Amino acid sequence: MNRSIDQLLSFDRKHIWHPYSSIENPLEVFLVESAAGVRLRLGDGRELIDGMASWWSVIHGYNHPLLTETIEKQAKKLAHVMFGGLTHAPGIELAKLLIKHTPDGLNRVFFCDSGSVAVEVAMKMAMQYHFALSRGGGQNRKNRFLTIRSGYHGDTFHAMSVCDPVGGMHSIYDGVLPRYFFADAPCCRFEDEWDERDILSFESLIRQHHDNLCGVILEPIVQGAGGMRFYHPEYLRCVRRLCDEYQVLLIADEIATGFGRSGEMFGCDHAGITPDIMCLGKALTGGYMTLAAVVAKERVGQVISEGEPGVFMHGPTFMANPLACSVAVSSLELLISSDWHRNIAGIEEKLREGLLPCRLIPGVADVRVLGAIGVVELEQPVNMERIQKRFVENGVWVRPFGKLVYVMPPYIINDQDLQVLTEAICRVVEIESKQK
Ligand code: PMP
Repeated sequence: MNRSIDQLLSFDRKHIWHPYSSIENPLEVFLVESAAGVRLRLGDGRELIDGMASWWSVIHGYNHPLLTETIEKQAKKLAHVMFGGLTHAPGIELAKLLIKHTPDGLNRVFFCDSGSVAVEVAMKMAMQYHFALSRGGGQNRKNRFLTIRSGYHGDTFHAMSVCDPVGGMHSIYDGVLPRYFFADAPCCRFEDEWDERDILSFESLIRQHHDNLCGVILEPIVQGAGGMRFYHPEYLRCVRRLCDEYQVLLIADEIATGFGRSGEMFGCDHAGITPDIMCLGKALTGGYMTLAAVVAKERVGQVISEGEPGVFMHGPTFMANPLACSVAVSSLELLISSDWHRNIAGIEEKLREGLLPCRLIPGVADVRVLGAIGVVELEQPVNMERIQKRFVENGVWVRPFGKLVYVMPPYIINDQDLQVLTEAICRVVEIESKQK
């Protein structure tokens, strides 16, 4: 290996934490030198077809000429300015687009830094809303949350409190994390016939505890990092009805599902519902920058403004960063002006076709596809170090977790690259199945 790459990697190995990793005993990481389209170019010259879109975010591919140009131009004009007392066109333009394209009725926008922070903000909004309604707060008992098992909402403290209690490692933070209510995860799959028993656990919890609930938070249709599960739209419609009945705000965490990934613009669109508060992130900037947005109904803003203390108590330093907002505007315009619906339906078809053979491999528990998301669920957790290396040797970037080998490629991927990707998955899963 090239000596300078060696040096970089050895420094990295010793000093830098990677996501969910041990600093003392880290797994191998690969140095990316550049990326274009759907290809990551490693320091040693190898090229990998990217199946991950950098965790759902890089929907238009890497180094997209239009997005790169937007950032360059904006950097020369205004890279950053505080949002307290000041505003700017990129933030305003982005808010306009979000209001236009999110479900009807969402028209109050709060910008923040990342998905987890957006979840914190949304939860604070729900709490502050009910605090304001209680006129003075002393009486406010509606300050708890209800969610569903197998969910994932981020790694900050309040976001963790609504992640799946088992997968989310609540045991470590016992006594620190607030204890909220968890309904059974939906079992009725996206394509199944609706079974009304699926909502019973949720229904019974909301009936029992609504006096104490300010909000319900869930990932609409696709539960991502908590298990890559696709559930039935009717479940979401029932949740909406029950939240209305019991005056509990519904927070839709669309951080992973937003911007077409599941085949509709938002997960909520599969069910035709409008949540009270929606969290957006990841693909918002086409994966160029970190940025998130919380979009709420007018009434949420109104109640918070009329109550104590009359303002919404949050204001990050990099709120509405102009670079991030400008590239988000370009990314959204690019998506909307494309034939994204048909394109994603095409990716869905190819993923289904390409991953289907995995069903026959011993040790594969399930294969499922929705929109531009393909999942091969194994019976046993993967050997991460080994499988990762194997994917790289096969010329693709796929990063499994636990029992899940999954892909959500950039939307610009062509049929040929998609075939290489799915064939590599079938091949690697098959080899791995023989090693157990
Ligand atoms: N919510 C969902 C549904 C997510 O998938 C994620 C990230 N995987 C988050 C929240 C947290 O976002 P971030 O990593 O940007 O903090």
